[in-house]
Amino acid sequence: MELRDKSIIVTGASSGIGAASALLFGEEGANVVLGARRSAELEKLADTINRGNGRAIFLAGDVMDENYANALVDLAVTDFGGLDGAFNNAGILGDLVQVPDMQLRNWNEVISVNLTSAFLAAKAQIPAMKKNGAGSIVFTSSFVGFSNGGMPGMGAYAASKAGLIGLAQSLASDHALDGIRVNALLPGGTLTPAGGSDPGTLEFIANLHPVKRMANATEIAQAAVFLLGGRSSFMTGSPMIVDGGMSVRLT
Ligand code: NAP
Repeated sequence: MELRDKSIIVTGASSGIGAASALLFGEEGANVVLGARRSAELEKLADTINRGNGRAIFLAGDVMDENYANALVDLAVTDFGGLDGAFNNAGILGDLVQVPDMQLRNWNEVISVNLTSAFLAAKAQIPAMKKNGAGSIVFTSSFVGFSNGGMPGMGAYAASKAGLIGLAQSLASDHALDGIRVNALLPGGTLTPAGGSDPGTLEFIANLHPVKRMANATEIAQAAVFLLGGRSSFMTGSPMIVDGGMSVRLT
């Protein structure tokens, strides 16, 4: 029960890493506010969590909308009495094309969903955490935010994920004395709907990792529990790499 009675927002909770994390946070005793656009998936997950150790409520919306970021915080405060943590995890890959062929629309969409959403989330979350005198914020970055990893056509995605590390470090420094920790989680290739189901592509990605496999979403969720809970109390501004050795291969 690492997160017992902690009030935590999870975005991107309708699928993949976010859904597995929300489920694990619930098992660890948290009160979870679930966010994403697909409300049917959120409702199903909330039911599952509410049958276990945790409690869950959900609100569907778009992370690019500032009002939505504020509404998730309001819900945590009104229903769970405050905000202790946030796993700002929603993200998209975008079109995998090299920059000369990339449309500005694609660039803007990836930067907005992956990076501007994190700015909006933190802007809404930090005042609520200051009221608590403590808080932990985690952004889902990626190994691609640290090194390209040999993945083709990743310009916008890599820039957004590297940007999250910079944002986490700046917020960590600004809010350390408010008792608020901010870290970035850098997963390696993880088996989720985002990666599709083409066996050749999945094998290619798996083989980029020294462990010759991709993570399952729960392995990433376990790292998120650590960053949100008290056992990481001296960690802030850290890019935490959970990548099956991908970065070792590259250095
Ligand atoms: P996923 O299964 O496709 O989940 C993405 C989540 O983001 C969904 O819940 C989706 O919900 C939500 N989302 C996307 N756009 C949104 C928007 N505009 N507003 C609100 N929610 C939105 O992908 P995943 O692999 O779990 O990815 C989760 C995070 O991990 C992402 O930030 C991704 O970049 C990162 N990551 C993934 C991998 C990997 O190999 N899978 C590796 C490193 C990092 P709705 O569609 O319901 O809105």
